[in-house]
Amino acid sequence: MSINNQFQDLVQQADLNSPAPETEPERQAWFLARARRIVQNRRAQQDRALTFRVETFGCQMNARDSEKIVGILESAGFTEAASEDADFLVYNTCTVRDNADQRVFGRLGRAGHLKKNRPGMKIAVCGCMVQERTNVEKIRKSYRFVDLVFGTHNLYRFPEYLCSALESEGMVIEIWDRADRIVEALPVARKYPFKSGTNITFGCNNFCSYCIVPYVRGRERSRAPMEILRECQRLVADGVVEIMLLGQNVNSYGKDLETPCSFAQLLTEVCKIEGLQRIRFMTPHPKDLSDDLIRVVRDNPKIARHIHLPLQSGSDRILQRMNRHYTKEQYISLAQKIREQIPDVSITTDIIVGFPGETDADIDDTIDVVRRVGFDNAFTFIYSKRAGTPAAKMPDQVPEEEKSRMFDRVLKAVQETAHGRAERLTGRTMEALAEEVNVRDGRYITARLSNNMLVHVPGDASLIGKMLQVRLDECRGFYFFGTIV
Ligand code: SF4
Repeated sequence: MSINNQFQDLVQQADLNSPAPETEPERQAWFLARARRIVQNRRAQQDRALTFRVETFGCQMNARDSEKIVGILESAGFTEAASEDADFLVYNTCTVRDNADQRVFGRLGRAGHLKKNRPGMKIAVCGCMVQERTNVEKIRKSYRFVDLVFGTHNLYRFPEYLCSALESEGMVIEIWDRADRIVEALPVARKYPFKSGTNITFGCNNFCSYCIVPYVRGRERSRAPMEILRECQRLVADGVVEIMLLGQNVNSYGKDLETPCSFAQLLTEVCKIEGLQRIRFMTPHPKDLSDDLIRVVRDNPKIARHIHLPLQSGSDRILQRMNRHYTKEQYISLAQKIREQIPDVSITTDIIVGFPGETDADIDDTIDVVRRVGFDNAFTFIYSKRAGTPAAKMPDQVPEEEKSRMFDRVLKAVQETAHGRAERLTGRTMEALAEEVNVRDGRYITARLSNNMLVHVPGDASLIGKMLQVRLDECRGFYFFGTIV
C-alpha cells in the first residue's frame, strides 16, 4: 500500500478525544484513525480478521478510485476477501451504458442475501451510477439493506463515511453535484506493485451527445502539476516503473489552472523523473491533440509508443451529431501526422456503431477510416441509449438487427487491419514489462510491449515488474508468443 508519510503522520497524531478537525485532509486522517480503532475492537471481540471486497465496474478512472477505496479499507485494518461474502462490500459503479446499471442492481440483490447470513455486514455503493438521482431513489426504496451510498465528487471523504457506516444502522447517503476540492494524499492500494495510474484531471467539458460522464463526473478540474509530480516521484520511490496519466481528456489538462500548464509540458516534466521507465496516458481527444504533444512523445523514449485516439465514427454527419468537433479528414490527417512523426507508434481507437440516424453510407465512411489509418486495435461498441444524454432523445434510433449487421462489418475491417499491423512485428526484439503469470499456462508470463500489445514468454513470477528484451516469435492475431533474449 502506498500511504503518504505526511498523511500517515496525521493519522498517528489524530486526537480521538477531541472532535474531528474541520480542515482537510486532517479531518479524514482523524476518521481513519477512528475507523482503525473500531476495526481493532471488533477484531478482538470476534476473534477474527474483518474482511472487505471492492467490486469495480467501468473504466480506468474507476479502477484508480477503487485503489483509493482499497487503500483506505486496508489502512483501517480490513483484509481483502476472495469473494463478495465479506464484512465490508463496496460496489464502485459505472453508468456509461444502461445495462451497466442493471448488472449492478442484479449483484446488489445477491449481496442482500449474503448479508442475511453475515451479521454486521456492511454494503456500500459508490461511483458514477449513484450520481444519478433516479438510481439513488431506487436503492433507497428497493435495496434498503444498503448501508452507504456516496458519489464521485466526495470520494476523499470515504474514511468519514466508513466510520458512519460502521457505527450506525440505516442508510448513509451523500452525493454531491460538484467537487469542492481535490484532496490529495489519502492511502492508495495499488493492484500492481510495479505500475500505477495517476489522475491528472477529473471530469469532462466536452458533452459528446451519447455520453453521461460530464453529468456524473462534473466539469473538468486539473490537479496542480507539483502534486502530480510529487505523486509520481512517491510511486517511483515505492517501486513503480510504469505510470499511466489519467483523464477523460488529457489534452485539456491545465487550462483551468491559475498558472496554465499544457499536457505536453506536464508530460515533459514527468519524463524527467529518474527511475520511471515507461509513461502512458489515456485518453486524448482528437479535436485538440497538439503538435507539441506529438513532439514530446516522439522525443521521449520513456513515453509508450501507443496513442489511443477515440474515433467513434468516420462519418462527418454522425460526428457532428455526436458533438465530437472534428471531421473524418481531420482525424485521418492527425493519425497520419502521428505515424509520420513517431515511427512504431500503435494507434488504437474506440468506435460506436448504430448511433441514431446512422446508415450504411456512414458505416462505409467509418470503414474507410479504419483502412486508411490502419488501427492496431479498436474497441467497437454497439450504441446503446444512455438515459439523460441528448442522443437518447434522438428520434431516429437504429433497430437492433441493423446495429448488429453494421457492427459485424466494422469488426471485420478492424480485424483485418489489426492483424496485418501486428504481423509485421514478428521476428523483432522489443522491450516488454512482465506483468503477471499467464492465467492459462503457469509456465509463461505475460508482458506488455510499449505499443500496448501482449507477449507471452516462458518464465516465472520472479520476472514480474521487470523490463525484458523479448523476441516476438509468433503472432496470434492480437498478441504474441516470444522468448526472452
Ligand atoms: S470526451 Fe466525450 S466521450 Fe469522453 S468523457 Fe467527455 S463527453 Fe464522454
